[in-house]
Parts: sequence; C-alpha cells; structure tokens
Amino acid sequence: FQERTMDQVTDTGALARQLNVDPYWAPFTSNRRFKADPSDRTMISAEGCYFTNANGVKLFDGSSGLWCTPLGHSHPRIVEAVTKQVRSLDYAPSFQVASATTIQLAERVAEMAPEGLNRVFFANSGSEAVDTALKIAMGYHRLTGNATRTRFIGREKGYHGVGFGGMSVGGIVANRKMFAPGMVNGVDHLPHTYDQSKMAFSKGQPAWGAHLADELERIVALHDASTIAAVIVEPMQGSAGVIVPPIGYLERLREICTKHGILLIFDEVITGFGRTGWAFAAQRLGVVPDMITFAKAITNGIIPMGGVIARQEIYEAFMSGPPAAIEFCHGYTYSGHPMAAAAAHATLDVYEEEDLFGRVRALEPLMEAEFHSLKGEPNVVDVRNFGLTAAVELSPSAAGPSMRALSIFEAGLKQGLYMRYTGESLAFSPPFISTEQQIKDMVAILRKLIRDAA
Ligand code: PMP
Repeated sequence: FQERTMDQVTDTGALARQLNVDPYWAPFTSNRRFKADPSDRTMISAEGCYFTNANGVKLFDGSSGLWCTPLGHSHPRIVEAVTKQVRSLDYAPSFQVASATTIQLAERVAEMAPEGLNRVFFANSGSEAVDTALKIAMGYHRLTGNATRTRFIGREKGYHGVGFGGMSVGGIVANRKMFAPGMVNGVDHLPHTYDQSKMAFSKGQPAWGAHLADELERIVALHDASTIAAVIVEPMQGSAGVIVPPIGYLERLREICTKHGILLIFDEVITGFGRTGWAFAAQRLGVVPDMITFAKAITNGIIPMGGVIARQEIYEAFMSGPPAAIEFCHGYTYSGHPMAAAAAHATLDVYEEEDLFGRVRALEPLMEAEFHSLKGEPNVVDVRNFGLTAAVELSPSAAGPSMRALSIFEAGLKQGLYMRYTGESLAFSPPFISTEQQIKDMVAILRKLIRDAA
C-alpha cells in the first residue's frame, strides 16, 4: 500500500480516483458527499501543522485533527518513543499484569491532576473513558452503602461519546434519537448554558448563566438525592461548538453536588492536557471534580488512549471489601496499551520541556482577537473562544441544517484549511505549536471562505 500510494504515485489526484471507496463506511460523515468526490477529503500525509490531501493541497490543521494532535503530526520525539517501545514491549495484557511504561504513566498523570485525584484507570477512547467513569460512580455508591444511588445527570448539548452510557448522558439530539430503546435508565439532563440573545460575541467565559446550575437542585428535589450517583459535564462543551461555562456556573454545580453527596465528573476529553492553558480545565477554572475523563491529547492522537482519574477515596471504596480476585469487573484488552503509554510519555515530555501549556496561555489573547474580528462578516451570528479554542457560528442556510458550515468546511479543503464543522458552527483548536502567523493566516482563509460562501 505504501508503495502504491506514496512512492510510485506522483499524481495523488489519480490515486484518489483509483481508490474503491464503496466498502468504506465513514463515521459521523455524509458518506454520500464524501464518496461523490473523495479526493479533497482523502489525506495522504501529514507533517507538523499540515495535512496533504489527495489533490496535493497542503491544509493547515486548524482543529488539531479532532482536537487531539496539539504537537502537530509525526512529531519525531513520539515516533522515536513508539519505535523504541514496539521493539522492547509491544503489548502486555492489561488484566492481572501490566507494562512498566503504563504504570509510570499513571503516576505521571496523577501528578498532573488536581489535588486528591490520583488513581488512574486506562481505556482507549473518550467513549470508553466515560462509560468507565459512570460505572465507577455506580460501583462506588454501592460499595459505600448507597446502592440506591444509580441515576445520572448529564446536560443538553453535552457530548460524552457514543457508547450507550455516554450517549445516554449526552445531550446532542441527533446522536440519541435513533437509539432511544438503548438508553441507560434513570438519566436527566441539566439545561445547556447557551443563549445567543444574552451572550453572543462574549469573550471567554460569559457573565450570564451561572443561575442555570440551580436546575440541578430541581432535579435532585424531583428524584431525591439518595437516588443520584453522579453529574457529568464537559467543563467547556466542545462538540456542541465551544460553549464556554458561564462565570460561577461550575462552582455552583460543585456546591450542589457536595451538598447532596453526588459525584461530579468533568469530561475533559477535549480540555485535558493543555487545551485551556492548564493541564486540566478544572485547574484553570478552580473547580475540582471527583473524577476526570481524558483521551485525545494525552498521546497527541498518535495512538488511541483514554482514561479516568478518580479521587483516592473512590478507589479505596473498591479496595475496602474482602480480598477478591478482581475488585472492579471492568477493563479493556488494550487498557493502558504500552504503545499508547510510550506515545503519552513522549507527548507529555514535549509539553513540559517546551512549556506548551504556557504557550497556549500566551496565544489565547491573539486567538480571541483574531476570531472576534470576524464579527460583522456575512452570516456570522456568534464567536466563542476559550484557551486555544474558538468557534464561529453561522446562521442556518436555506439549504438545510448545518449546510452553510458544511459547505465552508468543504471549500476549506480546496483552499488550504482543515477545520471541524459541528452543527451550525465551525470549531477551531489549532496545534499548541502554531505560530502567531499561522493563526492569523488561518483566520484570513476563514474570512475569505465565509465571504465567498455568502
Ligand atoms: N467526551 C468528549 C467531551 C468528547 O469531546 C469526545 C470526542 N470528541 C468523547 C467523549 C468521545 O471520545 P472518542 O471519540 O475518543 O470516543
């Protein structure tokens, strides 16, 4: 394959035309649009902050893939670490034995996490991390004499992956409606915190909306606290298009959860490992949950990995029973895969050595100014930003839901910009290693695309 695609084919457009796309079923994609013209969307190679697609167009990776490659592509340090690992220990079973690299990674992740959260359970994706956290929450209550605490509370517009657990606590209608009979029982949703009429074009955290957390009191009163296991929210909603928590909102959720003995889970699959300028958004926002889910940026997206960081008391509850062959009947064949762990160590080394979380903090004002300069461009109804993320929301077009954003995304693939389209928004999370000029250039291309589309 490598020979056919990379070395002998000089006309990459011809390669894309030769590919038989029929057997391929693309996730979260318009397969019919993709297959009508796959060449723009077929990536052939990537290096640093750029992809090259099958038409030979070099694309700035404005979204770090799917929010997951902050160091850009094919980072030599990670390539080296992964190569070394595959030669020394390519795989170790994750049940009853473990790889040393993985054990060391748990220690490292615990050190980076907020104080008190220091037990790390590995999975392979964000979806698996979320389902793991929900099961830990339910198990914890059962083991501490509160077996009636089984309900979960998610939030409208929330995205927690596509497992039945994550889907059930998630709040994106399109992801839920086809699978209603598979919903986990006993889930309620907090209202989302987005109101365009009150917060359009606010920068960073909106001032309005903290009171929406009080809805949690209403849900607790409806079911009684003794039935509720956990609340799960993304500190910043990513997939819904960068919905930033109102000032004071998460603090209030924390207070209410503590008051009622409900566990608070932050899903930091997007925000974890530097995206907001701190290792975790919990640290930036000064609100400490009981569990954090993570994935994506821990390995720079090179090898899949996810996981849960739990408070020590939660872990101890599982260890408090009589000696058992297994204390928590849960795990994945590839939990803490040594290859992923090696990629993670190299990724964390680079974040640390180059102070890249500091760089995110330094780039945030530029990111904010550049994106907010799009206010007033045709059909732009909102701009939101937080850390090294931003979203531009467009008015819906007559062509149907999401079609304006989708067509701008498609035009970008011809004009040198890859971005994430989600609903009516275009979402951006450029690599931490982006230069100021690259961020300015990205916004300049976007401005042109928005104008052209109008
Ligand atoms: N939680 C959040 C907050 C996410 O953003 C995502 C993915 N974007 C997931 C969970 C699911 O992760 P995965 O696609 O790795 O299963």
